[in-house]
Amino acid sequence: MNNQIGPERTCLICKIKGLKDIFFRLVKNDEKIYFDEKGTEQSRGMYVCKNKECLQRLSKHKKVLVSMEELVKMSVLLKNEKKDYLNILKVMKNSQSLTFGLNMVFDEIEKVHFVVMAEDISEKNSNKIIEKCKERNIPFVFHSTKSQMGDIFNKDEVTVIAITNKKVARGLIN
Ligand SMILES: [Zn+2]
Repeated sequence: MNNQIGPERTCLICKIKGLKDIFFRLVKNDEKIYFDEKGTEQSRGMYVCKNKECLQRLSKHKKVLVSMEELVKMSVLLKNEKKDYLNILKVMKNSQSLTFGLNMVFDEIEKVHFVVMAEDISEKNSNKIIEKCKERNIPFVFHSTKSQMGDIFNKDEVTVIAITNKKVARGLIN
């Protein structure tokens, strides 16, 4: 690879044009789409802006089907948003990789690999969840508020969100 200014690329979502640095590169392999983090895969690339809006829209794309694992890999690289679980969870909300609400999280606790609790969750509920997490060795964090977490799912309030996909959880924790 040389450092010369290359051709312009186009975001497959918002159609903005620019040099490759402003985009994440995606490649298709065996009918699956992967994030080409190093930008060295030989296949023809597709490009998406390095911002949460385009990643969110990509997560709902009807034709370009990118797995949640790949979306999370990109989300955690967004500048200044490394640990912004709220935005990452927004990107993930249409997937089968998460569940929310105290009852659902407890019902599916056997599948849970990571827990995000609202900072304003009641002490009683947080104690219940923490106890369960410790018992099962599930990492957890407190992040944002009940109403901010509710916004993700168009609810007034959500107290807890759990990640039920191991690889996705690992991507979020690192
Ligand atoms: Zn874009």
